[in-house]
Amino acid sequence: MNTPPVSRREFLKTTALAGASVSLAQFTPQMASGAEISAAAKPSWVDRPMRWAQLAFVENDPGTYDLNFWLDYFRRTKCEGVCLSGGGCVAFYPTKIPYHHRSAWLGDRDPLGDLIAGCRKLGMAVIVRTDPHATYDDAAQAHPDWIAVDASGNKRRHWASPEMWVTCGLGPYNFEFMTDVKKEIMSRYRVDGVFINRWDGSGMCYCEHCVKNFKAATGFDLPRTDNPQDPVRRAYILWREQRLFGLWQTWDRAVREINPDSCVIPNTGGVGSPLDMKKVGELAPILVADRQARRGLMAPWAIGLSAKEYRATLGKKPAIGMFSVGVEEAYRWKDSVQNADEIRLWSADLIANGMRPWFIKFGAVLRDERWLKPVEEIFVRHARWEKYLRNEHPLARVGVVYSQQTARFVAGRTEDHVHGWYQALIEARVPFELVHEGLLDAADVDQFKTLILPNVVALSDAQCAQIRQFVERGGSVIATHETSLADEFGTHRKNFGLADLFGVNFGGRIETRMQNAYLRLEHEATHQHPLLNGLEDAPRIIHGVSRVEVEPQEKFPPMPLTLIPSYPDLPMEKVFPRVEKTDTAQVFLRELGGANGKSGRVVYFPWDIDRTFWEILAVDHFKLLRNAVEWATNEEPAVTVTGPGVLDVTVWQQKNSLTVHLVNLTNPMLMKGPVRELIPIGEQQVRVRLPEGTSLKKVHLLAAEKTPRFQHHGYDLTVTIPSILDHEVVAIDL
Ligand SMILES: [Zn+2]
Repeated sequence: MNTPPVSRREFLKTTALAGASVSLAQFTPQMASGAEISAAAKPSWVDRPMRWAQLAFVENDPGTYDLNFWLDYFRRTKCEGVCLSGGGCVAFYPTKIPYHHRSAWLGDRDPLGDLIAGCRKLGMAVIVRTDPHATYDDAAQAHPDWIAVDASGNKRRHWASPEMWVTCGLGPYNFEFMTDVKKEIMSRYRVDGVFINRWDGSGMCYCEHCVKNFKAATGFDLPRTDNPQDPVRRAYILWREQRLFGLWQTWDRAVREINPDSCVIPNTGGVGSPLDMKKVGELAPILVADRQARRGLMAPWAIGLSAKEYRATLGKKPAIGMFSVGVEEAYRWKDSVQNADEIRLWSADLIANGMRPWFIKFGAVLRDERWLKPVEEIFVRHARWEKYLRNEHPLARVGVVYSQQTARFVAGRTEDHVHGWYQALIEARVPFELVHEGLLDAADVDQFKTLILPNVVALSDAQCAQIRQFVERGGSVIATHETSLADEFGTHRKNFGLADLFGVNFGGRIETRMQNAYLRLEHEATHQHPLLNGLEDAPRIIHGVSRVEVEPQEKFPPMPLTLIPSYPDLPMEKVFPRVEKTDTAQVFLRELGGANGKSGRVVYFPWDIDRTFWEILAVDHFKLLRNAVEWATNEEPAVTVTGPGVLDVTVWQQKNSLTVHLVNLTNPMLMKGPVRELIPIGEQQVRVRLPEGTSLKKVHLLAAEKTPRFQHHGYDLTVTIPSILDHEVVAIDL
């Protein structure tokens, strides 16, 4: 990380000079998250639907599509909730609001009303989708201030439909016009909720309202840089968040005034959300993760990652995983159908990670029907398993912290560090959860033995204190690279916020690009430390790419990894180490006596092991990551799965049962999607530690639909699974 150009104190000075009405000290993320807004009552229906359908109308569907086909498909797929297109860009009902564009194919029909009536007869919860991000010439002429403006001052035409205009997300188009649209829909149909798509603007807007409102709130002109360390950009990030929370709340109040048992569901979430997920988790009674399919080199577990991100702040509230039946790439073949096995694997990982499935189909006229059968099979199987899918809580003992602060305020690809850990934990078959940086209190994290901090650069003093207290209560911490080297705004600290935990101080320098550097494994000096398990025959391995120089605060015993510094990698004649061995430790292991005689363990890697693993996938780095978790966690795991292949393992407790999900990610195309065919893996042994005080009633395999071979002694249960195709669930009735 580079030292930021402006410190917080300087920022305050700048702000004062600019005559700001709000200083940064006042303009905190907490305030931007809307301290004045609070969660409304939970609608009565939100927890009921386990399976969702979304039919996203296109403008010429009215009069063309087959209503009864869709109602029948919803019935066959046992869907209990549905999302239907209402208005915004196109109204699919006879709207009376000026400039609310009726579908040109609408005639005197009401396709939205027809579908709502049909779905209600099926007993489904009904929510209506609105999309406000684009409008037409007549609206632009009557209300030129509704249109988004680019940095050069030009009103923005739509990039894909050039006859349309892009609207401003933060001005009166959304706050007034779209509020009226929602009120009209709610008054006409009294639906259960409104799903708001593309509601948060389409990039920076320099319209008259944005200029005026930002100036009034912060004293600044709108930023013209993306650098998150620029004070104006930073203020903009916080101001925009505040506007969006306000917008969501405005709409939510408006629909609840008409139907108190309803709500607005924003399409937002994840580490990259412009909204703080802790606050989102408090406000939203239900949330939908819009990660529709894999694209490019995305790993097949990416949907599980979304589930974990959402659950970290939603807790037990329903998180829904929206998946598309089409190919999801930059070229946006939204009208396509992709391989059934790809859909099957994606939805399996979504379900195994605790989300409820929601399929989306764009366009109600079918041009390719190949998706119908696989989606029906997935949903019917889900209905059959339902009793074992109403989870109370996960039983994972490892939590990986994800940091929106770091993503927002620290330049660079911070998510690569999380992805490295994610891949390593999947390969190691360790069940784990994600933890939001805003939820580090005992009540949130004491379910875990180990917290992992994957280059969580930006941490407030209070958050550092919470992590310290976690260790004092006997918890363990694994941290990498620049963790805690900046405050919550990404402003560089002189020393790590967690220096006392790591036992080292910041040495003042970061080597950002190491070439041809290595690690020496100190087998003898450390008497074969468990961190080196599986590497017994390796005298040295590759280093990472970036490292932080540190100075130990105390005399450490010999550490298992020491530095072999970079040496020339060309010409080949020059490729020999100039230094064979140093005493510079590249991992710091500590065992700290906590309260109650419990001891927390701390592992600090002063380099980017997780990011490098994600880039290179070297098995030596995998072993270090796996061993670090095992050493730090230092307890009998709740579940151990042995056998060939790559499995995503999740463990859950329901009211009267426990489940172990095993999703088979073993595939020759695991690292370059999409999947062509599912490849069954061989025998797996699943060893489960049953919760104390429970007794075993029954064990069965939900996918194979049979009772497996198992052995049972006390709380120790071992189940043998002969093979797994895509997804198996060991259901244990207690
Ligand atoms: Zn604007």
